[in-house]
Amino acid sequence: MEVGAFGLAANVGVALLFALSFAAIAITDPGERAARRFAVAYLIGMMTPICELLVSYTGYPAFFSILGYASFLAATLLSAHCIARFNHRHSPHRLLALMFVGGMVVRLAIHDGPRNWLPYELAYQAPFALAMLVSAWGASQARPRRLLTTVLTVDLTVMAIHFPLKALAAVWLGSGETERDYVASNYAVLSQASTGLLLTSVGLILLLLVHEASVLRSRSEANSDPLTGLDNRRGLFARLAPILADADRDGMPVQVVLFDLDAFKAINDRFGHAEGDRVIAGFGAILRAHLPQGAVAARMGGEEFAVMVPGITLDSGWRLAERIRHAAERAGGSGIAFTVSGGVATRAPGMAIEPVLARADAALYGAKAQGRNRVVRASTEPERAAAIMTLDRTG
Ligand code: GH3
Ligand code: MG
Ligand code: MG
Repeated sequence: MEVGAFGLAANVGVALLFALSFAAIAITDPGERAARRFAVAYLIGMMTPICELLVSYTGYPAFFSILGYASFLAATLLSAHCIARFNHRHSPHRLLALMFVGGMVVRLAIHDGPRNWLPYELAYQAPFALAMLVSAWGASQARPRRLLTTVLTVDLTVMAIHFPLKALAAVWLGSGETERDYVASNYAVLSQASTGLLLTSVGLILLLLVHEASVLRSRSEANSDPLTGLDNRRGLFARLAPILADADRDGMPVQVVLFDLDAFKAINDRFGHAEGDRVIAGFGAILRAHLPQGAVAARMGGEEFAVMVPGITLDSGWRLAERIRHAAERAGGSGIAFTVSGGVATRAPGMAIEPVLARADAALYGAKAQGRNRVVRASTEPERAAAIMTLDRTG
C-alpha cells in the first residue's frame, strides 16, 4: 500500500468520527438541526477519500475521480449552507447550487488535462477555495461575535487560501503522471495531511459550537414557560441573581409584584381549558408589553405571575401593577373577560428574596379579600427595619 493511501484511509476515519459525533448530538437533542446537517455533510465528505482510494485500486479511475471530486465539493458547499443556517442567516443556497454545477463543469472540462500544470491545478482547486470563502462569510455572520466564531472564520479563510497553495505544491512536487499515480506521490501525502488537519480543526470548532448551542437551548427551554414565553420560576431565579447583586451594589430597592388571575377556575369551567390557556398567554403578553427596561417577568405556575422591577419605589411599583391590571381588564373587553389581583412588596438592598415574596403574597391575599381586581401594597415596616439595620452596620 502506497504512503498516500494511509493519509486517505486516516481521513476516512476522521470524517466518520465527525459524522458520528454530530449524529450523537442530533440523537440526544433532535431539535438541534445543525447537528443533523453537519453529520450528513461529513458523511458526504467521507466519500471523497474512499473514492480516491478506489481510483488507484479499481479499474474505474475516471469514474471514482469525478465522484470523489463531486462529493468533496458537495460536502464543502453543504457545510457553507449549514454554517449560514447555524448562524441564523439566510443561506445563499441558489449560489451554492450554481457553484456545484459550475465546479463540476470545470472538473469535467479539465478531465484528462495536463496534470501538474499550474492553470490546470488552479482550476481544479478553485471551486473548493470559493466554497470555503462562502463558509468563512457564513461564520463571520455569527452574533454575538466571540473568540470561537472568530477562530472559525480565520480557520475557514486559511482553508480557502490553502487550496490554491495546493495547486502550487502540485506543480512543484508533482501529483503523479496519472490519477492512479496520485496516491504514490509525495504531493498526496502533503495534500492529505494539510487538508485533513485543517478539516479536523474546523470540525472540532464546529462540534464545540453545535454542542454549546444544544446545551444553551435545552437550558433556556428548562427555564422558560412554553405557554407564555416568559421565564418560569426557575428561569426567574436564574435571571434574578445578577439583578439583585446590581441593586445591592447601587443601594437600590427592587419591587416585587405577584399577580393571580381572579376566579380562573370559573373561566376554565365556562369556556374550556384551551380558552383558559389563551387567556393565560394573553396576560403573559400584557406583562411583556408593560415590562420596564431591566425588569423581569415570570409565570410562577398555573395562573400566577411575578414581576420584579429594580430601581423604583413601592408607589411606582404599585402604579405599574395598576396599569397592568387595567390593561388586563381592557383586554377582556375584546375576548373573554377576566380580571387580575396583585400584591407589591419592596426588597430593600441586602434582603433575601423569599420573605419579600411572602409579603407580596400576603398583599395579594389582601387584594383577594378586599374583593379582587385590585393591587395592594405590602406594609413597608420590614423595609424600614432593614434600612435602619443597614445604616447601623455601615455606621
Ligand atoms: P382566586 O379566585 O382568588 O384567584 O383563587 P385561586 O387562584 O386559588 O383559584 P382560581 O379560581 O383562580 O383557580 C385557579 C385555576 O387555574 C385552577 C386551575 O384549574 C387553573 N389553571 C392552572 N393552571 C392552568 C393552565 O395552565 N391552564 C388553564 N387553562 N388553567 C389553569
Ligand atoms: Mg391561584
Ligand atoms: Mg386565581
